[in-house]
Amino acid sequence: MKPKKQYLIYFVGLTLSIGFCFHSSHVQATENEQKLTEIHTQFAEIEEHITQLNDSLLQADATISTFNEQIKGLEMKIAERKVTEQQQKVQNDKLTEFLQQNVPSLIDKKVIFDENKLQKVELEKPLVFLEVKEIPIIEAQIKEVAEQKKLIVAELLQQQFNLKRQNLAKELLVEEIADSKPESGVIPEQLEAVKTAHQQQILLWDKRNEDLTKQLIKAVSSNDMITEDTQQTALQFGFKLPVTDPVSSKFGVRTGYDSNGFHKGIDFASAIGTKIHAAMAGEVVIAQEDGASFEGYGKVVLLRHTNGTWTLYAHQSELLVKVGEQVEIGQVIGKVGATGQSDGAHLHFEVRTTLMGGMGAVVDPAPLLGIEYE
Ligand SMILES: [Zn+2]
Repeated sequence: MKPKKQYLIYFVGLTLSIGFCFHSSHVQATENEQKLTEIHTQFAEIEEHITQLNDSLLQADATISTFNEQIKGLEMKIAERKVTEQQQKVQNDKLTEFLQQNVPSLIDKKVIFDENKLQKVELEKPLVFLEVKEIPIIEAQIKEVAEQKKLIVAELLQQQFNLKRQNLAKELLVEEIADSKPESGVIPEQLEAVKTAHQQQILLWDKRNEDLTKQLIKAVSSNDMITEDTQQTALQFGFKLPVTDPVSSKFGVRTGYDSNGFHKGIDFASAIGTKIHAAMAGEVVIAQEDGASFEGYGKVVLLRHTNGTWTLYAHQSELLVKVGEQVEIGQVIGKVGATGQSDGAHLHFEVRTTLMGGMGAVVDPAPLLGIEYE
């Protein structure tokens, strides 16, 4: 369950090969260990790719900043020229004034003057600013680099997403390896539940990846930039943290104290009264205290989301929504408490893949929320 930093990089293609070993009870440990070695090599490849993309981003930023410097230089030249033009205009005005005042007396004195010369002075053309024409050209170049940068950001985002998704597949493989060792001491049903959770999570990530790809295609083909917000949301799977307090109990077999020793969600160490936010927009399908199928949960809210998941918020001190209500992502739906089967204030949070949840129909919320366990 503990993702190690050096294992974080992974490769897309492996997904298919992992598919084979989900349910086979007689997986060869050596075969899996060999696969794990392959994963590490592939992780390194993706890591390299991400490094290259980051370099390209830096390069694009440097190019844009050089162009901006050029524009600044040109603007300064234009400003200088404007001053020169102003000085010249003052001179011309003075000359015009002088001539206007003196020409009648000169005519009176029958002095012949060159009319063309007078006009030339008066109508001297304003300076042509070549720099003014250069600026749009450079601005077009900046736009072009910004477009390239957008593509790089999109690819980087996709790679980072793959990395996180493949890390789940790697964890599954590690569990398979543990499973194939008889001395592991883990109850088979529980291990099966963790594996099922991981499988379902991987399916969710694949679905999310489709959405992300569509979003990226849209962003790349539009004039909008891919914002920090979009990047963050994409990597967080579209879920928002219900509370910002640290995780006090992880999902799965080893940390659980729920029935069957399997922890179906994660616990956040929040104080009584802490506002609980909806992890995603959805419909309130449960807002009650305990009740059938929700024994021990205390005051609990269950939300149905359009992406095929349900989120549950248990042990609340106060419920702030009613069944049938539509809630927005981030909306306050209740307050942290210690109701139900709970030894102290905390938020128990579940992500379910069916309405009723339970072993085999819950997934680890942590990767979906962008939480990385220590
Ligand atoms: Zn819990």
